[in-house]
Amino acid sequence: LNKIGNLTADGRPILGLDAEKLAEIVFNISKYCVIVPAHAWTPWFSIFGSKSGFDTIEECFGKYSKYIFAIETGLSSDPAMNWRLSMLDNISLISCSDAHSPSKLGREVCVFETELSYNAMFSAIRHKNPSKFLFTVEFFPEEGKYHYDGHRDCQIRWTPKETKAHNKLCSVCGRPVTVGVMHRVDDLADRSDGFRPATAIPFKSMIPLQEIIAESKGRGVGTKAVQEAYHSAVQKLRTEFKILLETSADELRAALLPEIADGIIKVREGKVSIAPGYDGEFGKIKIFSEPHPASSASGGLGTSLHFMERGI
Ligand SMILES: [Zn+2]
Ligand SMILES: [Zn+2]
Repeated sequence: LNKIGNLTADGRPILGLDAEKLAEIVFNISKYCVIVPAHAWTPWFSIFGSKSGFDTIEECFGKYSKYIFAIETGLSSDPAMNWRLSMLDNISLISCSDAHSPSKLGREVCVFETELSYNAMFSAIRHKNPSKFLFTVEFFPEEGKYHYDGHRDCQIRWTPKETKAHNKLCSVCGRPVTVGVMHRVDDLADRSDGFRPATAIPFKSMIPLQEIIAESKGRGVGTKAVQEAYHSAVQKLRTEFKILLETSADELRAALLPEIADGIIKVREGKVSIAPGYDGEFGKIKIFSEPHPASSASGGLGTSLHFMERGI
């Protein structure tokens, strides 16, 4: 691939060739090679993206489409959004995380019950076997950087409906807005919201523990107070995943500050509001409508944001 493009540009190889050609090269190396289109819906550099994407897997991979058995949903979409497309019913939906910032490793994951091997894991994915590919852990898609449409510099954040009402043109600068993931899913979907295919692998929606702590304290993620609380929580209760997904509410309350325990429980119940991300800007989470009574700091989030209540 070095002959074709720049593999060292920024950790992500940039190759000037068609996906179909890449598939030909990759699949001719070994029958064990797998291609999974990553962050399948983000506007740039993705299979279904609004900027450079395709409308179907076949348009993208041509005669190699039959070897594409999974896509990665990315932060700005979750499996439920993808369930609206019947063309994805036979495709496995996986969730992965970038490897470029260590603290963000594992922010989205797949959970398997298989032997720990490449072949066992890919076989579970390929066959969408619910006894081996148990579930994925996902961001709330509104938190992703491209959930809604808009212009970051112009501070225009629109729902797909608002964008259509404005002919996709920004009302501040007049240029076309960046069309996000929700909009693209809406355009390509052939089912209404809420449909769940029989073969669907379940998922759980989570917010990273550092962000829950930051919100419960009304401080930034990078602050010393948040970092200390995070490390002490992980030390007491073993791992972040245990804390987020498994530790009982009573144990959480016994081990952690009440506002942090409450925050985790609310997130598990889906009781969070999120000002959706757009045009490269992450969504903003709000777990507590008032600053938590146990936390003295004032909330850092602007009240002008339109938070979207999640009704899970
Ligand atoms: Zn995902
Ligand atoms: Zn603009």
